[in-house]
Amino acid sequence: MDAIKSNYDIHVIDCHYLQPGVAASFLMVEKDEALFIENNTANAHRILMDALESKNVKPENVKYIIVSHVHLDHAGGTSALIHACPNATVLAHPRAVPHIVNPEKLIAGAKAVYGEEGVKSLYGEIDPVDESRVRAMKDQEKIVFGSRELCFIHTPGHAKHHMSIYDSKSNSVFAGDAMGLGYPALQTGIRPFVYPTCSPVQFDPVESKKSINRLIQTGADKVYLTHFGLFSDFKACSDMMIDYCDKLNLIILSAIDEKIEGNQIDQYCTEKFREFFDGEVLLRGIEFSDEMIKMFNLDNQLNGAGLGCAVRRIMKSV
Ligand SMILES: [Zn+2]
Repeated sequence: MDAIKSNYDIHVIDCHYLQPGVAASFLMVEKDEALFIENNTANAHRILMDALESKNVKPENVKYIIVSHVHLDHAGGTSALIHACPNATVLAHPRAVPHIVNPEKLIAGAKAVYGEEGVKSLYGEIDPVDESRVRAMKDQEKIVFGSRELCFIHTPGHAKHHMSIYDSKSNSVFAGDAMGLGYPALQTGIRPFVYPTCSPVQFDPVESKKSINRLIQTGADKVYLTHFGLFSDFKACSDMMIDYCDKLNLIILSAIDEKIEGNQIDQYCTEKFREFFDGEVLLRGIEFSDEMIKMFNLDNQLNGAGLGCAVRRIMKSV
């Protein structure tokens, strides 16, 4: 199966979300048992089940379905997967659990952005998951899975319902969105490019930085990003992220300082984010395909709107 890359019994699955190399799910296998970290959307369900079959694991032997947070490109396929894996338990951040049990708000939020048909085609069906099948993971809580121990670390910043997972066997962290975006298309320049994803409405660069420091403390030397895959140089990634969290925080503070108001806030933040992004792309000599340009245009707009949310939040609180 071309979509799978493996290391330490961790299989990186390309979920073909929008296009290849955008969103991953991770399949961890220990003897005849398995777990998934991230499940993308219900549209990726067949890809995940095929990956499981290719590793000779029965759906009944999937023990856990772990989600870093409930954004729908990470957890949109939870109900489809739990249905297919009758003995699996969903592990999630305590703030994420209510949205998995009752996804109404998530779906309504997505519909407000993409419309009813858009949500269906992008994410497929999202059903409630029975409460008895979902377990809230405390900060620093650990589980043993085969020959490895997994430690769950609350990592707010990208979202308040975000957790990351440290794996003892590979000495790596599954960082969801807490260590940023690092699509393969961003790694084609003279050095890697990973940057914070500031999606609305909870992005907070100060909290992000604290979370990255918590992940550094695990001693991990590798990181798995949902967008996308294994980064074998944890330090390069965390250094970049800390630097960029500071830069993005400066955009937020300058919008406040310059007394930008109303609709102008999102416009200001999007322009500043674009300047940041284009500058870093230019520095590295990265060239994008037309498809990627389209995707980054949308992504950058979303990042600008996320910075705008942070500006409004701070303005309200002062
Ligand atoms: Zn997210």
